[in-house]
Amino acid sequence: MQSIPPGPPLRVVLGSPRGFCAGVERAIETVERALIMHGAPVYVRHEIVHNARVCAELREKGAIFVEDLADVPPRSVLIYSAHGVPISVETAADAAGHRVIDATCPLVAKVHKNGRRYAAEGRQVILIGHRGHVEVEGTLGQVEAEVATVASVAEVEALPFPCDARIAYITQTTLSVSDTRAVIEAIAARWPDTVGPETRDICYATQNRQEAVRAIAADVELILIVGARNSSNSNRLVEIAAAAGCAAHLVPEPGDLDPAWLEGVTRLGISAGASAPESLVRETVARLAAWREITVETREGVREDIAFRLPRTVDDAAMDTHLCNAPPISRAAG
Ligand code: SF4
Repeated sequence: MQSIPPGPPLRVVLGSPRGFCAGVERAIETVERALIMHGAPVYVRHEIVHNARVCAELREKGAIFVEDLADVPPRSVLIYSAHGVPISVETAADAAGHRVIDATCPLVAKVHKNGRRYAAEGRQVILIGHRGHVEVEGTLGQVEAEVATVASVAEVEALPFPCDARIAYITQTTLSVSDTRAVIEAIAARWPDTVGPETRDICYATQNRQEAVRAIAADVELILIVGARNSSNSNRLVEIAAAAGCAAHLVPEPGDLDPAWLEGVTRLGISAGASAPESLVRETVARLAAWREITVETREGVREDIAFRLPRTVDDAAMDTHLCNAPPISRAAG
């Protein structure tokens, strides 16, 4: 057992909203329902959401996560993760005879739809996002036209399109309005004929979680963001806390907490990325309580009441009875 030097009492402020968004809830429930309906194994293309704890629990129930469809036996049950997939994956899945359940977040699917519409209108589509992220790869593969990807104003300035080009932009969902504002302004300044999605198409969960972190950053000396290392939105929350002048660390698991971070700290903020279960937040707080005398309060932010309908193939009211008897996954467990 690690020996921790005693410190002064610690005031812990929890950001809100934090943790699971409607798209993540929907994706996890889709896998749980598919397991009940079809039995194990069910295959999931990519981690259903970017969180090791969630995936481990689903793995125990019979989910198998794959990156390459070549690892899926023909005619299997195959679920697409919340991040979405390129058309090439859909085509390969059809060719292999898989029974596909699409858990792509409806907000990601909306980005795909907008990208296709703009391309069909003959516009040059620019995707604001990070190359290599699975959602970005999925979006690029859903728009059957050449799409430019940019992540900064400098990258906008380097694009080769003439000043009279007809441009349309779309954005990676884990970037907020404030993340993309400067890039969008640079696009609109360079190409007057630019269109983009309506504000309401932007992911509410990304925006709300970022605002919640900004709201507590002014009052604390350190912020811990519970979330996986490969979670784009969790890493953004760390960056946002740091940009607000607060020391910040990502905490994938409570065991990753480093007591050295707490030296001299008396006011600590905690929040969580959209794919992190609340159980991880509770365990993080419990670990702190084992080290220091703590008080915990929540800084209430925007109230969220958004829920997405499940994919039609698993959205069966009759399933509710079975789910009541199923062991809960960690979003509900303490
Ligand atoms: Fe959907 Fe937004 Fe959640 Fe991503 S963060 S899964 S886009 S609701």
